[in-house]
Amino acid sequence: MKVVVAGASAAGLATVEALRRKGFDGELTLLGADARLPYDRPPLSKQVLSGAWAPERAQLRTAAVLSSLDVHLLLDDPAAGLHAGTRTVRTASGRELAADAVVVATGVRPRRFPGQDGLAGVHVLRTLEDALALRAGLRAAERLVVVGDGVLGAEIAATARSLGVDVTLAGPQKFPLESQFGPFVGGLLTALHTAHGVRLRLGTAVTGLDARHGRVTGVRLDGGEVLPADVVVVAIGSDPVTGWLDGSGLTCENGVVCDSRCRAAPGVYAAGDVARWHHEGLDALLRLENRTNATEQAMAVAGSILGEDRPYVPVPYFWTDQYDVKIQVHGVLHPAAEVSVVDGDPAAGRFVARYRRDGATVGVLGWNMPKQTRLRRPEVAETLTRVHCGGTV
Ligand SMILES: Cc1cc2nc3c(=O)[nH]c(=O)nc-3n(C[C@H](O)[C@H](O)[C@H](O)COP(=O)(O)OP(=O)(O)OC[C@H]3O[C@@H](n4cnc5c(N)ncnc54)[C@H](O)[C@@H]3O)c2cc1C
Repeated sequence: MKVVVAGASAAGLATVEALRRKGFDGELTLLGADARLPYDRPPLSKQVLSGAWAPERAQLRTAAVLSSLDVHLLLDDPAAGLHAGTRTVRTASGRELAADAVVVATGVRPRRFPGQDGLAGVHVLRTLEDALALRAGLRAAERLVVVGDGVLGAEIAATARSLGVDVTLAGPQKFPLESQFGPFVGGLLTALHTAHGVRLRLGTAVTGLDARHGRVTGVRLDGGEVLPADVVVVAIGSDPVTGWLDGSGLTCENGVVCDSRCRAAPGVYAAGDVARWHHEGLDALLRLENRTNATEQAMAVAGSILGEDRPYVPVPYFWTDQYDVKIQVHGVLHPAAEVSVVDGDPAAGRFVARYRRDGATVGVLGWNMPKQTRLRRPEVAETLTRVHCGGTV
């Protein structure tokens, strides 16, 4: 039996590792667009950007461990097409890789502003090269504007402040991460960033970038105001990398659409940020962009390939680190959920908040209280793994 995995990062690597762990002794190919050995992304906005880690430390496995997996690692050769019927992947260099099972693990790519490409001083953050370029930019920066009030924008603002850079965070929401965490925790994040000297220009859409002689000079807000900047990071979300699947016959709508076994077509699966699968507990299609899902979904896909007939029904989990605050989230938070503090005290900088909808706990969020937050996970699991809970989340 042959398996080809497209995308040599968190989900792709976890798929081949899980296959070997489960006893798969067939032929494995891991195909990557990047020339680098697989590396991890969460440190890119934290330890790598701050300089606390050398870039090599983000590498997921040593060359020796990778070679022990007995996998054909084909790097710097992106998948360029898929024939789902014959499960054949065509690569940019012209390889034709036929397999019994194909796994799509090609992740997402950052959204951009029209006209930002080629403008000096403007960055996105997805790859190690992006992190190193931004770090070099920040070293010489006087004024950074982060466009994007989501988790990535907030983390970049925090790391840049720790480097002493003057930072303004701009975005359309009233509070950072409001659409994910709601106004209560969003308000606490506002206070946190303000206390660390970040200027928040929220509640206003960014309409474009100003430039002179090919270099960014500012960020234009709705209403005409311009925020001066010599470095700008655009962190306005990402899109699944599915263009290479055009014409494959797979359904790609905000990700590769899969059934509850993470199967997009007979013998074709998807895992990680690119996968939008049917979560049976929620009875809804879900796509998660977080590190834990990349590993857990890869393990589920490996199981499906080997004939385990089990739905993938995780309790989503992610974390974010900003300054000295570590936030953990179990479940699916909803901004309109009813939020109550069930442990600790926000004023003391440590608490657990429970998110409830229609009387059911849909998520818990911990602020510097990881253990106590984890203890409440079963409450969330009870709601999210209840089969066909009727869309209460
Ligand atoms: C800066 C940053 C910080 C983050 N911090 C956190 C955090 O604190 N907590 C958390 O839970 N999550 C965090 N995440 C999210 C987490 O890193 C992702 O969810 C995870 O990397 C997803 O893994 P993946 O393998 O699905 O996708 P990716 O990591 O995006 O990997 C996809 C791979 O596919 C390759 N590829 C693309 N196109 C092709 C092609 N055509 N052929 C072959 N290969 C291709 C890409 O080069 C890439 O290597 C962060 C992400 C970023 C960018």
